[in-house]
Amino acid sequence: MAEIMVIGAGIAGAAAALGLHKAGFDVTVHEAHPDGGEDIGAFLTLASNGMRALAQLDAASAVARHGFALTTMNVLDEAGQELAALPLGEGDHPLTSYRCLRRAALGAALRHEVRRRGIAVRHGARLTGLAEGADGVTATFADGSSATAGLLVGADGLHSAVRSQLTPAAPGPEYAGQRVFYGYTDDAEAPPDSRSDRITMVRGSGAAFGYAFSPAGEAYWFARVAGPPVTAAEADATGPAGWREQLLRVLRPDATPAADIVAATTDQLMVTNARQLRPGGHWRGRRTVLLGDAAHAASPATGQGASMALEDAVVLAKALREAADTPEARDAALELYEQLRRPRVEQNIAVSAQLTASRSAGAAAGGASEPSPPRDSARPAQHVDEELLRLLDWDSPLPAPDRP
Ligand SMILES: Cc1cc2nc3c(=O)[nH]c(=O)nc-3n(C[C@H](O)[C@H](O)[C@H](O)COP(=O)(O)OP(=O)(O)OC[C@H]3O[C@@H](n4cnc5c(N)ncnc54)[C@H](O)[C@@H]3O)c2cc1C
Repeated sequence: MAEIMVIGAGIAGAAAALGLHKAGFDVTVHEAHPDGGEDIGAFLTLASNGMRALAQLDAASAVARHGFALTTMNVLDEAGQELAALPLGEGDHPLTSYRCLRRAALGAALRHEVRRRGIAVRHGARLTGLAEGADGVTATFADGSSATAGLLVGADGLHSAVRSQLTPAAPGPEYAGQRVFYGYTDDAEAPPDSRSDRITMVRGSGAAFGYAFSPAGEAYWFARVAGPPVTAAEADATGPAGWREQLLRVLRPDATPAADIVAATTDQLMVTNARQLRPGGHWRGRRTVLLGDAAHAASPATGQGASMALEDAVVLAKALREAADTPEARDAALELYEQLRRPRVEQNIAVSAQLTASRSAGAAAGGASEPSPPRDSARPAQHVDEELLRLLDWDSPLPAPDRP
């Protein structure tokens, strides 16, 4: 099984390609987008665990050239009073501290690494069908072409066609109850005590709001607001100015920096629906495996989706690296990957759903709740999860599978 095809060149797909290539496989990536990857223009915080996973793929430095490091998170209430100031992850090492960057920059940096290492990427290749057989798996694409390999890795995101092919009856992603607004502006005045290594979370009366100012003074912000999903008709009829006014109505009652930052944002303002997959779906076929959002998309509240995808990529590559080239060994490797990953990623979905639900209930009642990273990703350095470190460490073998 030397040949592996990866479907999707987003964060999970590019990282999987890097890991599988490093493990010695012949990898080809097929990406639907004609030249880059799909992106909604949002930024993300890549947590220390995600940066650690990148380091195992020798890609942390390439990513750390983008965005800026975050070492602390502070929390404000709706009156602008500080409730907490917390260290974020493994603070001061540039390759393991939290990083704030545009999702497009992360995807582009990873795809650049993929190409730099000589891994083939075919753009404009949208998978529409797959057939698994004794000798290989064949993918068919919207342009009429097809490709065959020993294993297919489905990294095609939230609306995964690979997942639908594997389990046509499985429910698709569901709305998680919040609209997520994002924006960037150079024109907001940073609060007096502002620092570029800090992200501030505001427990507003009507929104969970977060902001960070880059070293160049650009504000990156998001707001999560409970309510009905944005419909296609509403999206067509509403531009940045309309979204800004909608959001300002929610933020203005509070005495926090949020409303002024949003008011200073002009055209770089977008909105999306928070979505999640219900845990428990199938991840594996005979010659197919899912990772990233295709397997386990969480609503954005914990800010861990990309980091979880990067962890998946390392663990999948290690599991396959350690397997002999037989169908039984491949099955066992994919089973081990799922065993090692499912509890952690499904806990992230559950925590994120809880945060989202409490935020939604709180907003409806006029109260508030707090977005926070999952426990182990927000701990200071002395509490780094040793088991996770061993799992991610490229040179450490994976534990033996649990057998009933
Ligand atoms: C608003 C928002 C905010 C977020 N904030 C954070 C955050 O702060 N921190 C964090 O860690 N995560 C965050 N996330 C989650 C994170 O963006 C995702 O978990 C991550 O992008 C998943 O990567 P992926 O590669 O699985 O999917 P994607 O990034 O969606 O990539 C999928 C790729 O597959 C391609 N593709 C799709 N269909 C096909 C097909 N049929 N054939 C071939 N290719 C196909 C797409 O073009 C795309 O390039 C956020 C998500 C959202 C929506």
